[in-house]
Amino acid sequence: MEPRTITLHDCQFSTYMYEEEIIARIHMLAEQLEQDYAGKNPLFLAVLNGSFMFTADLMKRINMPCEISFIRMSSYQDMQSTGNVREVLGLTENIEGRDVVVIEDIVDTGHTVNALLQQLNEKQPASIEIITLLMKPECLQHQLDVKYVAKSIPNDFVVGYGLDYNGLGRNLRDIYKIVS
Ligand code: 5GP
Ligand code: MG
Ligand code: MG
Repeated sequence: MEPRTITLHDCQFSTYMYEEEIIARIHMLAEQLEQDYAGKNPLFLAVLNGSFMFTADLMKRINMPCEISFIRMSSYQDMQSTGNVREVLGLTENIEGRDVVVIEDIVDTGHTVNALLQQLNEKQPASIEIITLLMKPECLQHQLDVKYVAKSIPNDFVVGYGLDYNGLGRNLRDIYKIVS
């Protein structure tokens, strides 16, 4: 397929991962989750805004009783992770004793997920795992065990399928990477 190029703000991006590949990988993760959480009624906590599209497509393919709720944890400006991780917002569920699965769009340095796990662990869930659409292993700065990863990618800035560049690009059905 011919790559497509788009411009968002001042930057050019070109297609990197098509919807078909994303959905195929989501299918595999959904099957794995169904096996791992059989009989358990897990609570999925999706981290907004970036994970909204991934969450919808993943949840449609999970065939078991489960709960879904949404939290926020904003920490990112432009293309560089600031490391200024803020607190968890919007958690209304009591997670004590629950099997929690955090749904992320992308794990880069790991600052966000690390802080999130610290705060959630204080509330004594039975278990916590992370599922992420994308992961940049080269950038990871924390000892994190990310159990479910749709795809590991190099250290390139990507947009689309929920991920934004200064507010734009979240609606794109494919994932694009910055043209260097
Ligand atoms: P971390 O705390 O792991 O460094 O960064 C996690 C957050 O940074 C993600 O939830 C996402 O919002 C943002 N982020 C990291 N890498 C990228 C990227 O390549 N593209 C976009 N759009 N956001 C990213
Ligand atoms: Mg995120
Ligand atoms: Mg962002």
